Amino acid sequence: MPDFSNSLNEDQIQLKKWVHDFAENVVRPAAHEWDEREETPWPIIQEAAQIGLYSLDFVANMFADPTGISVPVVMEEMAWGDAGIGLAIFGTTLGVAGIFANGTPEQIAEWLPQCFGTPEKVALAAFCVSEADAGSDVSSMRTRAVYDEKTGEWVLNGTKTWITNGGIADVHVVVASVDPELKARGQASFIVPPGTKGLSMGQKFKKMGIRASHTSEVVLDEVRIPAGLVLGGKEKLDERLARAREGKTGQRSQAAMATFETTRPAVGAQAVGIARAAYEYSLDYAKERKQFGRAIIENQAIAFKLAQMRMNIDAARLLVWNASWRGMSGTGFDAAEGSQSKLFAGETAVKVTDEAIQILGGAGYIREHPVERWHRDAKIFTIFEGTSEIQHLVIARAISGMHIQ
Ligand SMILES: Cc1cc2nc3c(=O)[nH]c(=O)nc-3n(C[C@H](O)[C@H](O)[C@H](O)COP(=O)(O)OP(=O)(O)OC[C@H]3O[C@@H](n4cnc5c(N)ncnc54)[C@H](O)[C@@H]3O)c2cc1C
Repeated sequence: MPDFSNSLNEDQIQLKKWVHDFAENVVRPAAHEWDEREETPWPIIQEAAQIGLYSLDFVANMFADPTGISVPVVMEEMAWGDAGIGLAIFGTTLGVAGIFANGTPEQIAEWLPQCFGTPEKVALAAFCVSEADAGSDVSSMRTRAVYDEKTGEWVLNGTKTWITNGGIADVHVVVASVDPELKARGQASFIVPPGTKGLSMGQKFKKMGIRASHTSEVVLDEVRIPAGLVLGGKEKLDERLARAREGKTGQRSQAAMATFETTRPAVGAQAVGIARAAYEYSLDYAKERKQFGRAIIENQAIAFKLAQMRMNIDAARLLVWNASWRGMSGTGFDAAEGSQSKLFAGETAVKVTDEAIQILGGAGYIREHPVERWHRDAKIFTIFEGTSEIQHLVIARAISGMHIQ
């Protein structure tokens, strides 16, 4: 098991530089345009695919790093370029993680390549959990999956909302309730293949930030898929449901919690990337901008803000790297470190981007400068992948061993 280290090895240094170059030369120059257009930046996803950055190989290698540090390094650099375009490129990994965490080896081998497509014809994946009445409370999900004994198919009905890549993805991974009485324990994940009849895009949402990332409803109307497309296989699902009906579960929800702890640092790393972008920009600005005959950074009121911003960003990155290392190295979690990292990094990104606007004054409030966009982008990191309040709950439960409400 690799020890935790704060210094990157040679491979990680190369990886960081490669992704940074793409973020600096391709992503950041395009960020303003795609934020204004509020559309999926297909040409940039294609460019990422052509250089191998958007590919199964790249993502698999990144996750294979036993130190766990490659994932947050890549996520931070990409979000430093632009978090919206970054999510347009890496949003597919949400669906990929859903398949990887729950699929059989055969399902993983068949479907992961289809989530990415080829550089000539890129594909996207989506992970569909949230519903209008089931956001933080996933157990109240209404989307149903019913097995049709006659045809040997699953029939899915329901509406998912706020889905990244929803309706434009080729592969939709849909979480649905098989046995509503069992609440979360009665749910399973299904793969809906490209072009399946009955799956359509509902409303496309206009958002505050990360506007290059597509977010919409996914409507499932009598969607029929083969029996083999339930992740993990039908036999395993039937066994699990039978155990749940006898009141004998717990293992699966523990496994799901452990998966979240492992994936949350990657989300925290994106928040660190936005915060770092805003910090660097406002530091440069504060050295240049003169008022009262001196650079504004020569006032403690401004310099101390920047000191605080830098300290919080460095602390957030340490939490993210520590949690990522714990998840990947098999060290495990003592106090929901994955949730800690996502919570702290998300809140830090909001605070730091707010301070960056303040440091730029009026210039910070207008769209010629990117700091207002970074602030809009940062806010989603206290909401998706578990709100800040839910992260507090998870941490509080982990440290107390009690079911805090
Ligand atoms: C841009 C974007 C992209 C998204 N992408 C996806 C995606 O790809 N797939 C997907 O499935 N979902 C996605 N989501 C949905 C996202 O995960 C949910 O918005 C999030 O989980 C919160 O759910 P909610 O919006 O229903 O808020 P609610 O659950 O209604 O929460 C509202 C408020 O109440 C608080 N609250 C709720 N319960 C408690 C409690 N027990 N204790 C204390 N406070 C509580 C929350 O913290 C929040 O402040 C996305 C959302 C957005 C905005």
